[in-house]
Amino acid sequence: MELLKQRILQDGKVLQGDILKVDSFINHQIDSKLAFEIGHEFYKRFSDAHIDKILTIETSGIAFALCAGIHFDVPVVFAKKQAGGNMSPEVYQGKVHSYTKQTDYTISVSRCFLRAGERVLIIDDFLANGQAVLGLMDIAEQAGAVVSGVGIVIEKGFQPGSQILHSLGVRLESLVVIDSFQDKNIIFREERKNEKKSTLHGFSGA
Ligand code: 5GP
Repeated sequence: MELLKQRILQDGKVLQGDILKVDSFINHQIDSKLAFEIGHEFYKRFSDAHIDKILTIETSGIAFALCAGIHFDVPVVFAKKQAGGNMSPEVYQGKVHSYTKQTDYTISVSRCFLRAGERVLIIDDFLANGQAVLGLMDIAEQAGAVVSGVGIVIEKGFQPGSQILHSLGVRLESLVVIDSFQDKNIIFREERKNEKKSTLHGFSGA
């Protein structure tokens, strides 16, 4: 997604530990127009997948999952990192190891918001080691839902997440893939020119 690449080159900063800081438009302040375009791009790429629900993880996945949800016209569910007082005690839970914080935490989704047979699209901001997505896939599996795809805003292709998902047969679409950071420069993977793109049906709002 060229628009996103250009923005990352303009405003992204490479930190120690192979962390890309994009908090001026993705992780803290959010560029709402860009987020809407990202949602539209996910819709184009998965429009053939008959998605019933979008599943993400708080906090940074929510904005992009919501923008996709508007285009798909389906509900968005986010896994909570802390099961709060007003959450139903009937929950599915998964374990996630945080790449950026180097800690483990539990994520929870109320059972009433994920049903057996629902076709779920998982969306997140980054894919690194794949732990967040695997935690969400575990929750979807507990519910008997079907993971029809995983949509990622920024994949760090030099980390093992995408390989793990491909080995599990998951349909993965990353809007940009970073191949490496070289002296704080961001090297993107070239998109394959003849890549088959799904066509857009039934949406006239963007
Ligand atoms: P994974 O679970 O795939 O190892 O890491 C994905 C999660 O870690 C994402 O939800 C994201 O919040 C965070 N993350 C991983 N790498 C980066 C990065 O380079 N920059 C930022 N801002 N977040 C990252």
